Order: sequence, then C-alpha cells, then structure tokens
Amino acid sequence: MNARSNSNAVNDVASLIHPYTNLARHPEAGPVVMTRGDGVYVEDEHGRRYIEGMSGLWCASLGFSEKRLVEAATRQLETLPYYHLFNHRSVEPSIELAERLLDIAPAGLGKVLFANSGSEANDQAIKLVWYYNNARGRPEKKKIISRWRGYHGVTIASGSLTGLPANHADFDLPIANILHTDMPSHFHNAKPGESVADFTRRMVDNLEQLILREGPDTIAAFIAEPVCGSGGVIVPPEGYFAGIQAVLRKYDILFIADEVICGFGRTGNMFGCDTYDLKPDIMTMAKALSASYLPISATIVSDDIHEAMMEQSRKHGGFAHGVTYSGHPVCAAVAVETLKIYEDRNIIGHVQEVSTRFLERLHALAERPYIGEARGVGLIGAVELVTDKASRTPFAPALGIGPGIQAKAMENGVIVRALRDVIAFCPPLIIDRQQIDMMFDGVEKALDAME
Ligand code: PLP
Repeated sequence: MNARSNSNAVNDVASLIHPYTNLARHPEAGPVVMTRGDGVYVEDEHGRRYIEGMSGLWCASLGFSEKRLVEAATRQLETLPYYHLFNHRSVEPSIELAERLLDIAPAGLGKVLFANSGSEANDQAIKLVWYYNNARGRPEKKKIISRWRGYHGVTIASGSLTGLPANHADFDLPIANILHTDMPSHFHNAKPGESVADFTRRMVDNLEQLILREGPDTIAAFIAEPVCGSGGVIVPPEGYFAGIQAVLRKYDILFIADEVICGFGRTGNMFGCDTYDLKPDIMTMAKALSASYLPISATIVSDDIHEAMMEQSRKHGGFAHGVTYSGHPVCAAVAVETLKIYEDRNIIGHVQEVSTRFLERLHALAERPYIGEARGVGLIGAVELVTDKASRTPFAPALGIGPGIQAKAMENGVIVRALRDVIAFCPPLIIDRQQIDMMFDGVEKALDAME
C-alpha cells in the first residue's frame, strides 16, 4: 500500500474507482469529499454547505439528519444485526415491511421479494418474468421491452434494460431478449409540427408495431419508469400510459413499473403508478424505500406471478434465487421507520403543498434564452439547455455546458445534476418553500453567468 497522505483528495485518487465518473479526469479534478449532513444540506470537508437539490442520487428523501432512522437502525443492530430469509427463516422487520408495502401498493400486487439495489430489483423482475412464462408453458414468451432513455440499473440484465447508449458501449450490452422502444418525449422525438396528442398516439403505435414485428407470443413484459429520471426527467404525455397498458393487455404482456425514483411521494402521490393510473404486474422500488439511509430494494409481484413461483417450487423443490442480504433486518427496520415517518408527517401532503412553488420556479426558467423546455411533476423536474429555442438544438457535448452550470451552481451552494443537456432537480421531500427558492436562486445565478 502507498504511504498514506493526510489529504483526503490524495488518498482518494490513489485508491478509489469512482462510479459514473470520468476516470481519466479524476486525478486532476479530484473529489468533493462530503463530511456531514443536516436537513436538506450537506457539507464538504472544507466547511462549504450545499442544498442537496438532487437528494444525492434522487434518493435521500428525508434529508441527511433524520434521528428516528438512526435510532431504528441502532435498536435493530443491538437486537439482531443480521439474519436471513432463506429456507423458511424470517425476521420481524422484513415481515412488517412487506405488510406495509402491500398495504400501500396498487391493487393486485400480492407478495414482496427484497434485494439491495434498484438494479437487483429489476434483475429479479426479469428473472421472475422468465420463470413465470416457463411455469405457464410459454418458453417462447421471453423478450422484454424497455424504452430508449429509460434507466433501470447497471447489472448485466438491468443495464441491458437501460436505454442509454453510454451504458451499453463496450460493456457488450444489451443481452439477448431485451428490446427498446421510443421514449414519449415530445421535446426530443416529435416530428415538426406534430401535436402532443398525435405524438402520443404514434408512441403507443410504435410499441404495438414492435410487438407485431417480433411476434406477440415472444414478448413477455414491458418495463417503464412512471417518470423517466436519469434519461432526462421525461414526464409522460397525457394518455400515454393508458394507451400503452391497453396494448399490453391486448397481447397478454406483463407490465413492470420501475418505481425506484418515483416511489414514496416523489410525484405527489405514494407511487408514480397512482399519479398515472398504472396497474403493474410487478413493481420495483429502492432509494426512498429507506430514505437511502441503508440499502434495500424490493420487487413486488402479482398473485398470479406468485402462484406460478409456487408451482415452480413444487416442480424444482424450491425457489433457487435469493441474495445474502435479502430483507436484511437492519435495512428493513430503517425502511419500516421511513414509511412511518412518511405517514406521521404527511410527507405526501407536504410534497403536494410545496411542489406548487417548485413547479412555478422550474417553469419560470423556460423564459430564459437558453432553456428549451422546463418539465416536472411533484418534486422532480428538469430544464433542457438549447443553443436555439425554435430549433431545439442542443449544445455540442464537447462544450460541457450542462456540467459547467452544475459546477457554477455548486459555487453558489446548490447541488443539481447535469445529464448531458439537461439540468435535473430532485430535492429531498422535506424541502420547504424558502429552500426551494434558495435552490432556484443558486441555479439562476449560474445561468446568469452563462448568458
Ligand atoms: N431504476 C431507476 C428508475 C433508477 O433511477 C435507478 C438508479 O438511479 C435504478 C433503477 C438502479 O438502482 P441502483 O442504482 O440502486 O442499482
């Protein structure tokens, strides 16, 4: 091991591989080392304080200093720090968490399978879809359709679902049996002069055409985020999901709702499924499930899928799937406490209340010269940076306009996220109106510097 420096930056560069980071630039750019958190704020090692306008990675829903979660974790650590769910074993926090999730989940979902990350929850969903169709005697019905720009994780299977070319390039993805259809982003994908209604019909029709081209008997499932997050915060146009769900029902195709970002109040209702009237057969969740204080995710399946899983157990002598930390008692205890906090503090009511200000400030940005569109719902939103509003021309990536604004906002004490030409906002659900104003003031100042 190298001699240890007393500089975090030096030691970081010497030892860490940073996910989603330009590794070639990291030695020169260096890390921003965060050392503490307080409400919606985080503080770095130099004492600089930032409003975390992205909740970390769209996840720290209750901010960074929720004592009840610390106490819930401590209580469980002192009682039973680890046990598992394999082979008929169980732990109380996981039982309670599963019950609470089924109480709030859309009708028709009947059983919960835990894992550690959103990627794993989606991986499990794919495996269960395949398992289900094998149990039902339909071994040909295996293809899964996701959407370009959709984000579902980075494991081999969930990374294949993800529809962002950078996640596939040189990783040899996607794997077989994963197909992609269009993202219903009118801003990016509409034809000149096409109305939102015509565009929406075309998006639904494109899905149906893909199904017909491939053969409906080969298509097992369709997966979508209610609001696409990492792909640029794409809010679905009216009628989109109603049309999509009708097509799925017509061809007996399962619907997987990826609630990893939207779940637990982000869109102003408990789930994105509630906001957009979705009736999924499988729902996946992570992030705000535990307010991100500890890693835990879940895949919730319909009674019909669970019935098929039981048939498979009869056939094979067991359900040969599971991870060591599935339903980890400390993570589950924190998640149970998180759900209690959402209820006790009426977090969804709070989101509905403060999101009016959030959306007002967000939409006001669209008046600016280099903002082509502002879009959002609840407490998630984004603006699209363009060189020319009329033609919606994005800046050349090499100019690094998005990252430049992100860096300037940080100098102003605000963390937002540049996703190529998009600046995304996803603050902790506990943010108040004054903090919302401070967040947008910091971003406006960054945009002023650009103009
Ligand atoms: N699904 C969605 C919608 C996500 O936004 C993410 C992560 O951002 C994932 C899945 C993957 O979750 P994880 O990073 O926990 O594997």
